[in-house]
Amino acid sequence: MRRAVVLGGSFAGLLAARVLRDFADEVVVLERDDLSEESTGRGAPHRRQLHALLAMGHVQLERWFPGIVTEMVAGGARLGRGAAVRFYVDGRLRPPLDDAEMLGASRTFIEQTVRTRTMALLNVRSVTGRAQSLLIRSGRVQGVRFAAGEDTALQEMDADLVVDAMGRSSRLSSWLTAAGWPAPSTHRMRVDLGYATATFRRGSELADLVIAHSAPGPASNYQPSLCEPGALAAVEGDRWAVVLAGYDNYRPSEDPDAFLSRMRRCVHPLREVADHCSPDGDVSAFHFRDSLRRSFTSMDRFPGGLVVLGDAIASVNPIYGQGLTLATLEASALAAHLQSGAMPHEPAWKYFRRVDAIVGAAWKLSTTADLAQPHVTGPYPRGYALTRWAGDRLTEASLRCAEINRAYMDVVHMKKHPRTLTRPRVLLRAARVLLGK
Ligand SMILES: Cc1cc2nc3c(=O)[nH]c(=O)nc-3n(C[C@H](O)[C@H](O)[C@H](O)COP(=O)(O)OP(=O)(O)OC[C@H]3O[C@@H](n4cnc5c(N)ncnc54)[C@H](O)[C@@H]3O)c2cc1C
Repeated sequence: MRRAVVLGGSFAGLLAARVLRDFADEVVVLERDDLSEESTGRGAPHRRQLHALLAMGHVQLERWFPGIVTEMVAGGARLGRGAAVRFYVDGRLRPPLDDAEMLGASRTFIEQTVRTRTMALLNVRSVTGRAQSLLIRSGRVQGVRFAAGEDTALQEMDADLVVDAMGRSSRLSSWLTAAGWPAPSTHRMRVDLGYATATFRRGSELADLVIAHSAPGPASNYQPSLCEPGALAAVEGDRWAVVLAGYDNYRPSEDPDAFLSRMRRCVHPLREVADHCSPDGDVSAFHFRDSLRRSFTSMDRFPGGLVVLGDAIASVNPIYGQGLTLATLEASALAAHLQSGAMPHEPAWKYFRRVDAIVGAAWKLSTTADLAQPHVTGPYPRGYALTRWAGDRLTEASLRCAEINRAYMDVVHMKKHPRTLTRPRVLLRAARVLLGK
């Protein structure tokens, strides 16, 4: 390709740019916000919330930017494995995993490191501007129309491939319909999740801990009001980042005293930080209304020269920490698609089918879990009651047995497909554990 243009220069856009630099003479990242310094740009206020990078995301990030984890650790991030990463369910600690590494770093720190590495690539450059529509000619996308900086006049930029990485509020669907193309169908599940993040100065407390994560499980009927969900990460700048979550009318607020008292109802590491560390800045809250997924494979026509990546394709309940990892996997799917000899100017059906498999797994996992919340009203998949019953039993077995826990956490970390949990060997082992054999 002569030129690829990526619309959106946040996490997914940067990953796409990194992949495309191997296939195009020039890659242009078009981003409306100034993201050059540590920013909480208006396009993505969720950047202020603590983000977990799952083990699979970690592996993928290292694939595209070798040495990046070491670089982040040198810059103050912490790397945890084994007992330094603690997952609690209903207040009970899961058996530790020795090989699933997790990074303690803020979202802005991870993203800035990725941005610096991407923008240092010789054939990648950034343009500040707002994409306004696609240039579609002869049945394929051949570029983009955009307004540069504060300018209102529109400019055009030709491209052999355009990537939509404009996040969940991407306007691609309306651009397509305005140009006479069908739009993807959009599936939503209302979750009404509330998030709040605060940072604290880190001292010598909990010296052997990098990540602690707590979630309500079967014993508390998955209710945040009965078992406070939250997470703690040792991040760059000798700080702890703490995120609390809740649903519907039990959402955390930006009130610092309320935040502290909620932390004190959480698992031990969060209580310890609440009691011994001083806050470092304000509490920042975020309301995530619904998970959404756009289905491109269900369309009967789609222009060539166009792919979609990141939250623009699916934005799932963030409590499961899947978004960044999904973006890395989709970037790898794009690389596999182009490596297979696919022509960029043809409709990227095979890419969308690959992505469908990845997103489908994440969507199933998160939406099935969300249905445990009484305010989430569906849609219920067929056999939901049985899935829920089996899921509860498996969770219980995973808390008692290291082998089941590994199988379970491989799915949580997106290293394995959820289907692997229904393998006879896993189910048999779980039954034995529960029967005490
Ligand atoms: C509260 C919260 C907590 C989360 N926690 C986690 C977590 O723990 N772990 C995890 O993996 N994920 C988490 N996520 C999900 C994660 O934030 C997203 O999956 C991720 O940001 C997706 O990146 P993206 O690049 O696709 O989209 P975004 O980060 O939304 O970026 C889209 C970019 O496109 C730009 N843009 C939009 N329109 C235009 C235009 N017309 N022209 C040019 N540029 C444009 C925007 O300015 C923005 O920079 C969380 C999300 C939320 C809301």
